[in-house]
Amino acid sequence: ATRFTVKGLRASIEGKEILKGIDIDIRGGEIHAIMGPNGTGKSTLASALMGHPKYEVTEGEVLLDGENLLEMEVDERARAGLFLAMQYPSEITGVTNADFLRSAINARRGEGNEISLIKFIRQLEAKMKELEMNPEFAHRYLNEGFSGGEKKRNEILQMMMLEPKIVILDEVDSGLDIDALKIVASGVNSMRSEDRGFLIITHYQRLLNYIKPDFVHVMMQGRIVKSGGPELAERLEAEGYDWIKEELGIVD
Ligand code: ADP
Ligand code: MG
Ligand code: MG
Repeated sequence: ATRFTVKGLRASIEGKEILKGIDIDIRGGEIHAIMGPNGTGKSTLASALMGHPKYEVTEGEVLLDGENLLEMEVDERARAGLFLAMQYPSEITGVTNADFLRSAINARRGEGNEISLIKFIRQLEAKMKELEMNPEFAHRYLNEGFSGGEKKRNEILQMMMLEPKIVILDEVDSGLDIDALKIVASGVNSMRSEDRGFLIITHYQRLLNYIKPDFVHVMMQGRIVKSGGPELAERLEAEGYDWIKEELGIVD
């Protein structure tokens, strides 16, 4: 079964330490949520795990099924089964959505094991239908002119097509109306399996009404300061973050 372990991860941007020792342990089948106020390092964590060059990892370990991800380039991490849906997906001019997906899938499958065009198209059509996406999206340039909601749906489409082992969703609910949110959530829920783990980063509890986490972690000032079950997310929704700050004596 899949196992994703982050141990004592520290990371900096432009010499400023943002992540101050993060520990996470995700087993296949589990959904972990990370919640926290703005500016606490949630997106930094996602980017550092994915290997974004702007973030310098200064300490710690990241293992996916025993493999050390920190020694890998971004594309190697993706091939190893790590997937990140970003808070702000970038636009890529000149590459259609379908082309992008097909090369990403083939990169993940490896040489000699490429998906056939027929099978790819069949899968793409089925998943797009499931996500209630307009078929023309397959032929548009990646994220170019996509609305916020369309970009998010497209990230979920990528996840469903790539079948990663570990899925990181960063604020995938931001900018979604309730119908789009439900579609995104059902896409995620349909991908739940024993050999896949999820790390869902969200500022609001709303998404967690539709995707039930097994564990909820609260991040503040670059650290996970509290962990619990789904009831923790409900308390945060009702009472905000101040009670945790008081409990832990955090001054900001
Ligand atoms: P969150 O996702 O929890 O809102 P971020 O990880 O985006 O938080 O940001 C954490 C901190 O790192 C903030 O203080 C932010 O200003 C800083 N930061 C994030 N990205 C950069 C960057 N590219 N350059 C400089 N500082 C950054
Ligand atoms: Mg933010
Ligand atoms: Mg963020």
